[in-house]
Amino acid sequence: MSNRFYSIMQSIVKMMLTAVIYFISAKMVAPLSLVESGSVFAIWPPTGIALASLFLFGYRIWPGIFIGAFALNMTLTPLFPSVQIAITNTLGPLFGFWLLQQYSSKNIFDTTKAMVFFFLSIILASVITASGGIFALWSHGLLPQSAVVHVWLGWFLGDLIGFLLITPILVSVRIEPSFMLRLFSVEGLLMLTMLFLTSLILFGPLAFFDLVNYPVVYFLLPPLIWGTLRFGSAAAVISLLVVAFVSIYGTIMGYGPFLRNDPNQSLLLLQSFNGMFAITILLMVSIFREREFVQAELREYKNGLEYLVDNRTRELADANKKLQELDRLKTLFIASMSHELRTPLNAIIGFSGVLKTEMAGPLNDKQKEQLERIHKAGENLLSMIVDVIDISKLESGSLPFIAEKFSLKALLEELIAERREKFRNKGLEECLLIDEDIYLNTDRSRLKQSIGNYLSNALKFSEKGSVTVSARRIDHRVEIEVSDEGIGIENSDIEKIFKPFERLESRLKVISGGAGLGLYLTKKIVTELMGGEVYVKSLLGNGSTFGLRIPIKV
Ligand code: ADP
Repeated sequence: MSNRFYSIMQSIVKMMLTAVIYFISAKMVAPLSLVESGSVFAIWPPTGIALASLFLFGYRIWPGIFIGAFALNMTLTPLFPSVQIAITNTLGPLFGFWLLQQYSSKNIFDTTKAMVFFFLSIILASVITASGGIFALWSHGLLPQSAVVHVWLGWFLGDLIGFLLITPILVSVRIEPSFMLRLFSVEGLLMLTMLFLTSLILFGPLAFFDLVNYPVVYFLLPPLIWGTLRFGSAAAVISLLVVAFVSIYGTIMGYGPFLRNDPNQSLLLLQSFNGMFAITILLMVSIFREREFVQAELREYKNGLEYLVDNRTRELADANKKLQELDRLKTLFIASMSHELRTPLNAIIGFSGVLKTEMAGPLNDKQKEQLERIHKAGENLLSMIVDVIDISKLESGSLPFIAEKFSLKALLEELIAERREKFRNKGLEECLLIDEDIYLNTDRSRLKQSIGNYLSNALKFSEKGSVTVSARRIDHRVEIEVSDEGIGIENSDIEKIFKPFERLESRLKVISGGAGLGLYLTKKIVTELMGGEVYVKSLLGNGSTFGLRIPIKV
């Protein structure tokens, strides 16, 4: 119960406070009334006070605004118009506040959009208060028809400037209280003094030459921008207030660049300047603040990103270390295994070879055939092991590259000669096509191994016709091809064959040994070691051409 009583009392105090401040702020600008009507003012702070109190206390404060407006108008106009004016003077700020709440809960200084929305809301609120007020005066015969438009404009501008100058002060105190305090430092006071003096020179009796004829109001900009940059919204709102009061009093006293023959015209002109000036500066503050927010967000994002990158880099480094260790173990394993396998294999190949010569005693045909199979299987296994070792060395980057100058023709002849017996056994024709001898400067044994793979495959996968080895120079490169008239390769299989362990289905697959590593190794040697390229052209059943192009000199 006591809580409820307490909160009701609190609400009443807030309402009365609003009403009193509303009343006093209006009385403070009493000398600024327009000539045609004693109840229309060049600046009307109460509208700003009303909107600010709505910001502070919420919708429930409206009776305070109404009481303030009514009491004030009773001192200016009779009862009926006073009630009417008090109603529209309450409705205007209420409508403006409602409209602002519709947009977002964002602070008016936080984004440019929120600030523009604030301007739109207070323009509409001023239209309501000015129209309602003028209607009340006119309908009760307190305003001649001829003055309606003129006075409406004055009322509208006065209310708008009231909103523009007063409401942002409250918002600023709430969002940047530290700036408000800092403003009262040496620099802040210096800036305010400079602004005050500039305003006095421009609008007051200090003017030492006829300023009416010069567009000198821009002199206000430097101190204003200085303040805004250093003290944010606090400097902007206080400075605008200073400029507004000095300029209005000055103009009414008969000074300044807005002076015209008709004092009302002077005030209206000045008010449009003050309005535009306030809009520009307030917009500038919101742009600065928005930029600061974006910068802070970017900084945060950047820090987060840096942290993330650091973490990922560390993880990658760890993973890399593990991989390196694994790689080292793999190489070690392969090296020791190859040694362990090669020793017995060499014994198998060597002794089966010796046995085949029948030096150790005669063999019957069956024994000879079985021995031949052991010997061949041993050789296949050895070449496979050699290929695996080469691949692992290439992958770990430890395969040595020994460049030397040599004759390509001699190399190709050597390769063919080494397989002459196989050519003869399979009844295949051999052919070497090379116009001029080309001298290469590259790793001879690796090139021999690569072309040897092509040649061995051509022999493996052909049962008729010829096998042709050809070479030609193309600018700084040499192109070497091995063509056969064998089983050929299906189009869809072509891209598979340079991959490891790929062997295509064919009748010859079973007869011809191999692990599907030869072409993979060839491609790796040619591309990674020699900076060249490999290719294949083939038609199923119509033979194949395997080729490579490498620089003549590496
Ligand atoms: P391997 O010959 O040890 O099986 P390769 O990597 O040298 O391994 O060859 C991969 C596959 O490509 C072979 O199994 C074969 O199916 C196909 N191939 C290679 N050369 C030829 C060719 N000259 N004619 C037809 N097919 C071929």
